[in-house]
Amino acid sequence: MIEVTTAGAAKSLAYADLLLLRFGEFTLKGKNRARFEKSVLRHVKELLKIYPRAEISKEFGRLYVALNGEPAETLAETLRNVFGIVSISPVKACASRLEDIVETSRAFLERLAPEPGTTFKVDARRVWKAFPHGSLELNKLVSTPLLQGYPGLLVDVKAPQLELKVEVRETQTLIFCENIAGVGGFPLGTSGKAMLLLSGGIDSPVAGWSSMRRGLEVECIHFYSFPYTSELARQKVVDLARVLSRYSGGIKLHLVPFTEVQTAFTGIGQDNLMITLMRRAMLRIATKLAEREGALALVTGDSLGQVASQTLSSMNAIGRTTELPLLRPLVMMDKSEIIDLSKRIGTYELSILPYEDCCTLFVPKSPTTNPNLRILERIEATLPGYNERLDAALEGTETVLITPYGNERPSDGAAMEAGLQEEWF
Ligand code: ATP
Ligand code: MG
Repeated sequence: MIEVTTAGAAKSLAYADLLLLRFGEFTLKGKNRARFEKSVLRHVKELLKIYPRAEISKEFGRLYVALNGEPAETLAETLRNVFGIVSISPVKACASRLEDIVETSRAFLERLAPEPGTTFKVDARRVWKAFPHGSLELNKLVSTPLLQGYPGLLVDVKAPQLELKVEVRETQTLIFCENIAGVGGFPLGTSGKAMLLLSGGIDSPVAGWSSMRRGLEVECIHFYSFPYTSELARQKVVDLARVLSRYSGGIKLHLVPFTEVQTAFTGIGQDNLMITLMRRAMLRIATKLAEREGALALVTGDSLGQVASQTLSSMNAIGRTTELPLLRPLVMMDKSEIIDLSKRIGTYELSILPYEDCCTLFVPKSPTTNPNLRILERIEATLPGYNERLDAALEGTETVLITPYGNERPSDGAAMEAGLQEEWF
């Protein structure tokens, strides 16, 4: 098989009648397999709603999408981003008759236009046992005329560069050769739900996508400090959540008013602990939201050593505020790898917009890299009205359902005031 990394690079796509979608590693997990396959199927159906001619079928542990004239490249590019799909092959179908198979294979090869010297083999499978030629015989029957037509091709049965797959089934024969890489991972929602702390930066959207790829349903939480942070900064986070929603069909975003909590820490003479205190407050509020929404973990974009609040000592002091598992998908990644991923998932250009974040705004000259847990706890215990401020932030949280197409609506729940609608529609 020829491996390609984007749909645009697949030469046989324009000639294809069907897309063959292969499931990922979860096929190994016996009893969960049916549930996982169903989730992928549901996701694929959802995405293909806007392509009414496309027909989906599930067979032999694979999904097939009959194109029926829908745009092959757009569909392949969309579907390769479905979590749980590891690869997609463009397939040409023909009648299960030897002449048709040979002729279609020849036309298929023409599309691929192999360079002279390319090593080659036909890998035929007779799935329909009533077909008069067995798999080995068929290999010869198909490859001989192809080699005559393309004298530049060299036979290599062990590790060919080009391997033409021919699957003879009763209803039709499938011919394919290229594998477009899919994102893999686990189907959406099959690992439970987590709350993502979404800032306006590069890292947290990538952490969100990585969590979704691992099968987590994700809800986003953003802390904003109006009027210190602008509407534009908040809109940026909405836009980032929208990009994430493309991978899931929709995503909840909880917007937490954080000004009162943040200002509780100013003027106490502990500027170097400010960021640590803010992060601890964020985790406390996020934990409450997680409980309310039935989520079992928190996700952040922390990457070890990246900034003062992400040293091991800081992570330790911050992480202790929650009893929920704190997932940090990027913890061991280099910034350059994170940036590459953010470009790949489509969040990078938004993330680098220069709007202020609530933390950058209050950032002290020298944030500590080694905060003392006992001091942090003492400060929090003695700040007047601190718990009330946390409760008020939780109380004032707005929740919006973000969709890929921008038709936001306040999520369910009485907290959704009518006034919010004007703001978000
Ligand atoms: P990012 O690119 O995600 O902003 P960063 O390198 O800027 O990451 P920090 O600002 O130190 O990192 O934040 C670390 C993590 O804390 C973020 O990845 C995010 O999960 C969370 N976080 C920070 N600020 C906010 C915020 N205003 N709202 C929600 N979560 C936040
Ligand atoms: Mg940030």
